[in-house]
Amino acid sequence: MSRSAHPAGPRHADVLTEGHYSAPAADLNVLDEKVWARTVTRDEDGALTVGGIAVARLAEEFGTPAYFLDESDFRARCRAWADAFGPDADVFYAGKAFLSRAVVRWLKEEGLNLDVCSGGELTTALGAGMPAERIAFHGNNKTVAEIERAVEAGVGRIVLDSFQEIVRVAHIAQRHGVRQRVQIRVTVGVEAHTHEFIATAHEDQKFGIALADGQAAEAVRRALSLDGLDLVGIHSHIGSQIFDMAGFEVSARRVVQLLAEVRDEHGVELPEIDLGGGLGIAYTSEDDPREPHEIAKALSDIVTRECEAAKLRTPRISVEPGRAIVGPTAFTLYEVGTIKPLEGLRTYVSVDGGMSDNIRTALYDAEYSVALVSRTSDAEPMLVRVVGKHCESGDIVVKDAFLPADLAPGDLIAVPATGAYCRSMASNYNHALRPPVVAVRDGEARVIVRRETEEDLLRLDVG
Ligand SMILES: *Cc1c(COP(=O)(O)O)cnc(C)c1O
Repeated sequence: MSRSAHPAGPRHADVLTEGHYSAPAADLNVLDEKVWARTVTRDEDGALTVGGIAVARLAEEFGTPAYFLDESDFRARCRAWADAFGPDADVFYAGKAFLSRAVVRWLKEEGLNLDVCSGGELTTALGAGMPAERIAFHGNNKTVAEIERAVEAGVGRIVLDSFQEIVRVAHIAQRHGVRQRVQIRVTVGVEAHTHEFIATAHEDQKFGIALADGQAAEAVRRALSLDGLDLVGIHSHIGSQIFDMAGFEVSARRVVQLLAEVRDEHGVELPEIDLGGGLGIAYTSEDDPREPHEIAKALSDIVTRECEAAKLRTPRISVEPGRAIVGPTAFTLYEVGTIKPLEGLRTYVSVDGGMSDNIRTALYDAEYSVALVSRTSDAEPMLVRVVGKHCESGDIVVKDAFLPADLAPGDLIAVPATGAYCRSMASNYNHALRPPVVAVRDGEARVIVRRETEEDLLRLDVG
């Protein structure tokens, strides 16, 4: 049976209705620098290298599947964000995208702050030496124990997410004899995802306190009245993988309106405004993310303009990119296992990982790219679906992509832009062993999160 290639597009109606792929790239061997970490290139043998090390060597030393993270790219992105926003603004890396002690040290060295949203993330941050005042604590249901630890540690801000939490944090702070710096998270009635945003009815979610019906103004009233709280600003986070700045524009305008109301009612000008994260990255060649300096300029222009109109002093802006910093810096390396061609449809390529190391495709219908990286090939492009080894037909890593038709078991393929929300959302489904994260820099590769072992799994299973 011959494997079917689709160089000119789909042949069958069901492929048309199911797939969302464009024509294959003119040359599948070319690595689109938009989706790959900065030091990724092919060596003279055609093998992909990162930080100067070829994937065959990485696979041999660290096994597959594994995440390889380009440390110099990560650091460069941190600096780009910090430089773009400058000394009058703050950049908080959203730790939930991917956090480890090495990452905390890089952030600290590159001058970034850090968002955490659980006791585990807080412990990691503090344990790796992030100064508490550079940590912000988020979450819609922080436990009392978590709040206690955050207050005791002296975190720079707690982002209050509900009326109960306003009282809870105030009590705990008072008991510790401190005034805790806090922001209030509001929902501005905007939800943004990728190229679209919707400006009505998105108070219908678990996070934050609604602006629309005066709830946020009431939350400010209560926070200002409590001795344990030092209310320093308003926080808003509108979505994820956003390219269009229009959602931020509406969000900033509404938050500034609240700041003006607070000034009119209480005679207080809150000094900070946090516009959240959610800035998009390129997962495929079709995505066109903006550079940090463009984003910084757009956000600062919007806030400045709105504040001038409201006759407010411009507050200190903060942002919280997670994906935009770590996402593009890593790729997942897999070994091809079985290959199942379906004549006229597509070819299923099974890899040695799957939804346990990348749940985003199953969870969000996320799009990814993939490339053959252990060698180049002049074979025709074939339409593939890259799937994992789990007992679940939704176990898809890359829904629609093209790989060379001579792909064979044992080849190494890599999925770029897996730095964010892949290792951090990884699971042990089917008792899979979560893959390691290996940092690569200047010809050296170092494990920063080791691969799980069966002993790790058995240690939790206490019989
Ligand atoms: C998830 C989250 C972020 C980071 O989102 P990215 O898409 O990774 O940039 C920032 N702030 C808050 C409050 C979040 O919940």
